[in-house]
Amino acid sequence: MSAPVSKTPKAPLFQKVAIIGVGLIGSSLAHAIRRHGLAKKIVGCTRSAESRDKVLALGLAEEATQDPAAAAEGADLVIICTPVGTYEDIGRAIAPKLSAGVIVTDAGSVKQAVVRDLGPFIPDGAHFVPGHPIAGTEHSGPESGFAELFEDRWCILTPPPGTDAGAVAKVAALWEACGAMVTTMDVRHHDRVLAITSHLPHLIAYTIVATASDVEESLQGEVAKYSAGGFRDFTRIAASDPIMWRDIFLNNREAVLEMLQRFSEDLTALQRAIRWGEGEVLEDMFRRTREARRRVLEEHQAGTFDPREPGSS
Ligand code: NAP
Repeated sequence: MSAPVSKTPKAPLFQKVAIIGVGLIGSSLAHAIRRHGLAKKIVGCTRSAESRDKVLALGLAEEATQDPAAAAEGADLVIICTPVGTYEDIGRAIAPKLSAGVIVTDAGSVKQAVVRDLGPFIPDGAHFVPGHPIAGTEHSGPESGFAELFEDRWCILTPPPGTDAGAVAKVAALWEACGAMVTTMDVRHHDRVLAITSHLPHLIAYTIVATASDVEESLQGEVAKYSAGGFRDFTRIAASDPIMWRDIFLNNREAVLEMLQRFSEDLTALQRAIRWGEGEVLEDMFRRTREARRRVLEEHQAGTFDPREPGSS
């Protein structure tokens, strides 16, 4: 059997990487960039002094600043890892400091709005390669990241038509060195795919947990106690960052509403089958959904390794 081919480049891919937003995704990238020697220097940018102290204490960056423009100045790679509702302000702030040849990328969970909000601020001579790693946990902040987060996960790049191929290849090389598999997609297609695979499931989890919280009182506090019946898996998803998810729903409105409409119709069909005792309708659907789980397992996308959760895979 041949040895696995290392995707770690021999020399650093970048001189100065600015990570704007050092939460789960930004800090995981910093860990992975450090582990694989992908940059000579990292500068981190966060809003709060508390986060900047953690960034430095954890050794995630050589420097930490609250000013996105200062972080971006002189960088050859800028990675924006803040909630997508912040992008327009960040774009406006960094635009005058972007060097010729710099690559601006991001990790935002929606892509049409990112191109709309950030695109106008990318000057001629700079390259814009939006990206989205399909990896995450429900934890936030600089201390929540880990270098393995992106291993064996997809990263979707959505370069606008005409983007420099060399810049796209460099961003792809970065993610591959972090252990990810890279693909490219049109922004609209990305947003529809993610609406069904990620955004709608989160919306449903938030709804179920909110409904259960409302009935908790009448059930005498027994929701949490017996949560292993299925509810606890929804609580994990519904514990995800409120700001990040607010921004995702507000910035992928069209695709989420389309998928929600289809979901509501299917839910109504199930409601009807239960009311009329149509067991075969229920059984038929549940058999089809088992197939979906099998396909996820075959794609090796069934679990997230998180070093803070024993047994996670
Ligand atoms: P996070 O853990 O909540 O971290 C957000 C970071 O952004 C923090 O460092 C925060 O600084 C900073 N920030 C927030 N507003 C800012 C502003 N106005 N200016 C400068 N910095 C600001 O978030 P995350 O989970 O890493 O998500 C980051 C991005 O990745 C989002 O766009 C999200 O859609 C995308 N994404 C997330 C996941 C996931 O599962 N979490 C997966 C894929 C993609 P402070 O710490 O000082 O507040």
